[in-house]
Amino acid sequence: MKGNHMENIVEETKSLMKKYHIKANKSLGQNFLINDEVIENIVNCSRITKEDMIIEIGPGLGTLTKHLLDKAGKVLCIELDTKMIRILEDRFSDYENFEIINEDVLKVNLNEIIKKNKENPKTKNVKIVANLPYYITTPIIMKLLEEKLDIESITVMIQKEVADRLIEIPGGKNTGAITYTVYYYCESEKIMEVPNSSFIPEPEVTSEVIKMNLRKEPAVHLEQTKVMFMIIKSAFMQRRKTLLNALVNTKVFMSKEEGMEILRKLNLDENIRAEKLSIQDFANITKLICK
Ligand code: SAM
Repeated sequence: MKGNHMENIVEETKSLMKKYHIKANKSLGQNFLINDEVIENIVNCSRITKEDMIIEIGPGLGTLTKHLLDKAGKVLCIELDTKMIRILEDRFSDYENFEIINEDVLKVNLNEIIKKNKENPKTKNVKIVANLPYYITTPIIMKLLEEKLDIESITVMIQKEVADRLIEIPGGKNTGAITYTVYYYCESEKIMEVPNSSFIPEPEVTSEVIKMNLRKEPAVHLEQTKVMFMIIKSAFMQRRKTLLNALVNTKVFMSKEEGMEILRKLNLDENIRAEKLSIQDFANITKLICK
């Protein structure tokens, strides 16, 4: 049965591409999903109900959209490629719970959209679900987090290398500056790895589905979060250096002496590297610097 399903989805994708003269546009990160098991996992782990509005970024031919429409109260798609808009309208205009915006997701005012939709008492939660265009994975994730959207979760397929950084716990081997941003806002989990053969055309990298559940309260409490994230960025700009040298070089610490003093106060070794710090350590450094 699984085998038949797989054949169906491949056939459907190929026939849609043929019918609408679609050639996957590499510069728009177009890799169309052709694996039913992955779709099933994305939909199941997002725990979609009729009380949910799903925002799907980059619906493409609508392979995932179809399943979201069956489960959700509403599906709002944001797609940049005008060619896809026609396909999606042809396929789904009969669905009352379908809406599409033809725009670059990075330019869309998501807060306004969510606020407007939440005025409808039927919409209790908003969730993001997407097979993202990989050329802008990081800007999209940063936008979804930094704009402090009123959303419950973000389920995305992205390149494995980035996924491993996003879902890492600060201090782990894949820790990067963005690990702290995700950790500050979310509790995240790996859903599944996805082989290149699950797409037409095949991407050059392995993919992974991850889910980020927005925390009710951020992971640490402090007033100067902007300063903390600036310090984290500075610390990771020179990740081969010790934290002390990186923060002296980027002028976060006015001098080596000041830096050593701060690290001593926080019981941190003067040779420690940025990726070994917890988010609480960075919050403590921030508080001392801002004093
Ligand atoms: N969801 C489809 C699937 O799973 O088969 C397509 C996923 S494909 C990896 C990424 C999609 O994002 C493409 O349809 C592409 O046109 C769209 N896209 C690319 N850049 C975008 C942007 N800036 N804003 C909105 N959509 C974009």
